[in-house]
Amino acid sequence: MRLFDAHCHLEEEAFDEDREEVISRAIKSGIIGIVTSPIYPEDAEKALSLFRDHQVVKVSIGLDVAEYGEDDEVEKTIQLILDNVDDIVAVGEVGLDYRVASRGGPDKDRQKEVFRRFIRLAKELDKPLVIHSLWAQRPVLRVLDEEGASRVVLHAFGGKPDDIKFAVERGWVISIPTNVVRSENIRRVAECTPVEVMVLESDSPVLAPNPRERNEPANIRVSLTYISKLKGYCPEDLASITTDNARKVYELWDPV
Ligand SMILES: [Zn+2]
Repeated sequence: MRLFDAHCHLEEEAFDEDREEVISRAIKSGIIGIVTSPIYPEDAEKALSLFRDHQVVKVSIGLDVAEYGEDDEVEKTIQLILDNVDDIVAVGEVGLDYRVASRGGPDKDRQKEVFRRFIRLAKELDKPLVIHSLWAQRPVLRVLDEEGASRVVLHAFGGKPDDIKFAVERGWVISIPTNVVRSENIRRVAECTPVEVMVLESDSPVLAPNPRERNEPANIRVSLTYISKLKGYCPEDLASITTDNARKVYELWDPV
């Protein structure tokens, strides 16, 4: 079995006590690759120092949408991406979050302005984008399309069938999180997503199959079993397909 966790946050404090054990459990359950996506500059530095030459864990650098109003944080993040371009596999997670806007965070226009900067940067550097979209699936797709983004991972995507179709037509990848086992909305996304553009993610430490537990990459096994049944695939086949999709979008063909 070859599995890939296309998105999580292993540098977070939640893993400070037992990070190595979490990674060994992931490897034991068949995971051959993990992309961790720090969303604050200090976490990006931590992730790079932990995983710069790691065999299994790869780093992508992004910024929490709630920070898009802070020029300092935006500039620091861009600089970190530029300084570490050879050590990262993607730009993100970046995107739009209209729930944050509705709660006094950066407004929609400001969010779009910063999001566009990250999309252009990823294009310049020829890196894929890991995309966050909350209450803003359609606006995210529109901005990505206007900017001509081509390599895209829509992380924990909660869009409607039309949105999924829009993404699939552009060859963008849809990442199904482990809470698919308990979220009706995510289950619908999994149903509508062709396996040719599907990857699996844990989004650890959040979105666990059991909402009372800390999530970890090994739980991809749980969502794999669930999605295999949903799509009528044998788990080994779905594991290979989604793993190859992830390795392709992140250009991680080398080890294993
Ligand atoms: Zn995340």
